[in-house]
Amino acid sequence: IPNSRIDRLLASMGYGSRPDIARLVRYGGVTLDGAAVNDVSTRVALTPDLPQRMKVSGEGLDPLAGLVILMHKPLGTTCSHKEAGPLVYDLLPARWRRRKPAISSIGRLDKDTSGLLLLTDDGPLLHRITSPKRHIRKTYRATLARPLDGTEAALFASGDLLLNGEEKPLAPAELEVISPMEARLTVVEGRYHQVRRMFAAAGNHVEALHREVLGGLTLPEDLAPGEWRLLNEGEIASVL
Ligand code: URA
Repeated sequence: IPNSRIDRLLASMGYGSRPDIARLVRYGGVTLDGAAVNDVSTRVALTPDLPQRMKVSGEGLDPLAGLVILMHKPLGTTCSHKEAGPLVYDLLPARWRRRKPAISSIGRLDKDTSGLLLLTDDGPLLHRITSPKRHIRKTYRATLARPLDGTEAALFASGDLLLNGEEKPLAPAELEVISPMEARLTVVEGRYHQVRRMFAAAGNHVEALHREVLGGLTLPEDLAPGEWRLLNEGEIASVL
């Protein structure tokens, strides 16, 4: 298990600059197993229970690097780090914006799409989940502007639907009709605006889009828009 100097650890978690951390330690603001840490050069083992054992200003340490967040992305938020807000990152504690490695969304949902979004600071995991080779299933519930005409399921399942401006046909996708103007669509790719463009190719228009499933994870009923929680190891494994 790796270890880290306390000041490096806390600075990388966004608690402040190294001088800020030194000041915090000097005033007894950092404790380990109930005892004040009195030297910023103290090394601590990065064990999974460290956030329970270490307190900063009286509060449990934030989760260590290697976290995965399950969020119910609300409408009107953006997954980009660069755009003007509101960003999905603004829904997390402000300190987490300063973490290194940075927390990023795993793939993206459009500003006007809601639903299941994962975020992580684990680059290799992010790449595994978003890799086009993995064909991870994503299920979206789409509300349409016009009634379905019954031809969509075959078109989406065909494996030769070509989106405007693209050269490679889409992999087969599964449509489940919920009502004349509502359907669930399961895709295994993540092309730009994919679901909206698929329905556009079928002569329809998506009015509302919500992601329900990613890999083996389903958006929990009790997670309201804007809410999030950390995933455990088993849940992380279920995505892949
Ligand atoms: N397809 C889209 O068109 N938008 C999304 O946000 C996700 C999939």
